[in-house]
Amino acid sequence: MGRFCRFRECPVRPSASLATGDDRIETTMAEEKPNAYKAAQDQLDSAAKICGLPAPILSILSQPKNELIVNFPVRMDNGELKMFKGYRVQHNNVLGPYKGGIRYHEMVSLDEVKALASWMTYKGALHDIPFGGGKGGIKFSPRDHSQSELERITRRFTHALGANIGPEYDIPAPDVGTNGQIMVWMMDTYMNVVGFGDKNANRGVVTGKTLACGGSYGRESATGQGIVHCITEWARDRRFELNGCSFSVQGFGNVGSNAAKILSRTGATLVATGDWKGYIMNGDGINPFKLAEYVARTGSVVGYPGTRPITREEFFGTAVDIFIPAALELEIGVAEAKALSCKLIVEGANGPTDLAAEPYLYEKGIALIPDILANSGGVVVSYYEWLQNKRSERWDLEEVEERLTKRMKRTYLAVSEYASTKKCDWRNAAMCIAIERIGRAYAERGIFP
Ligand code: NAD
Repeated sequence: MGRFCRFRECPVRPSASLATGDDRIETTMAEEKPNAYKAAQDQLDSAAKICGLPAPILSILSQPKNELIVNFPVRMDNGELKMFKGYRVQHNNVLGPYKGGIRYHEMVSLDEVKALASWMTYKGALHDIPFGGGKGGIKFSPRDHSQSELERITRRFTHALGANIGPEYDIPAPDVGTNGQIMVWMMDTYMNVVGFGDKNANRGVVTGKTLACGGSYGRESATGQGIVHCITEWARDRRFELNGCSFSVQGFGNVGSNAAKILSRTGATLVATGDWKGYIMNGDGINPFKLAEYVARTGSVVGYPGTRPITREEFFGTAVDIFIPAALELEIGVAEAKALSCKLIVEGANGPTDLAAEPYLYEKGIALIPDILANSGGVVVSYYEWLQNKRSERWDLEEVEERLTKRMKRTYLAVSEYASTKKCDWRNAAMCIAIERIGRAYAERGIFP
């Protein structure tokens, strides 16, 4: 059931499931890819078996608590009205307020958002951060809209969500297709519509804001920084020399570009990358700093001087030491796993690897650092931003980075130890740590009434 809503305009109605034989799953995902929520459920089921999660807790985690769908009109620059469909899924809040990004993408669907929301629950729990999991999005392509249209879409969506978000209840952040500016429009709308009596107490309704509007130093690059912490820990444990090694990145947005820039400082070389428009390579190396400037100007990596265009198949077949998927979920299927030639995959994206593809990777001796660990730097620094907003503090970059480094290393070590003790892969280890923590909270709190 949804939360009580103070606004007539924002009814909270759980959406209806379509009959699929498994009533946890909707049938709205792109046909060519496996269903993301099914993938998330398979991961949960696998970990639950390993750690013996009690069946009632498993069934609670198998469904989000709330699924909100809002349809709302927005006036376009040409004066016409256009309808948009927005989602907010609140998966679990036993450990703290729902927390998770807002995605603007033409492939957004209820099942995709449900999957992403559940991964947020596990990510927060893995780090022992007092947050639950949520995710939201609007099904449209932001590239097709002007800044003023994006602002009106964002403000109208935030208004439609109304009191279903809030700094102590559900805290959005940036994800694919959104950024600090969009978070600031969300914050400003929320402050003016919901929390007008106590405006500044509501600054923490979203994280990933710009620095001028209550954001944290280090948040924009935090996910990329966290990925590189995982890589440096992995390299240290295996005595692998990063200086001189090669890597490729799928998706050159916030996560991919920051990971590439930070990793390049170790002496590793970016040799191939790609985005929504196409893929490029240069065996001698691509400068990620200059490439990021080019993408900011042109909207894509395609056409970057000194590189040659390659197909998606060639991209996945390019031999590198480290591969960072940082685009969308389920990009690594069986065919991609068979084609990949690397030593390590570090999941920058959420859910980039199909479970069916994993055996092909492990067979080749490829190590995999799973999403809920690898890309968790973002939610960790979002937590720091939320704390700074609550306390009216501003931490300097060194303080944020020091805290992030400590937490990433501690969680990395915990996952590594769990995997070797239980002799399981790292995805199962990370998931087990998370769901055991959630299970303990339920065991002590009990189920109301
Ligand atoms: P972004 O919008 O900044 O970048 C997304 C990138 O993926 C862009 O380069 C885009 O062109 C590319 N892309 C989109 N569709 C593609 C396709 N079909 N094939 C290849 N490339 C495609 O988004 P982001 O914030 O960098 O998020 C990337 C991934 O990281 C997502 O899975 C997101 O959920 C995850 N993530 C993001 C954060 C964060 O802090 N932003 C934190 C944790 C996880």
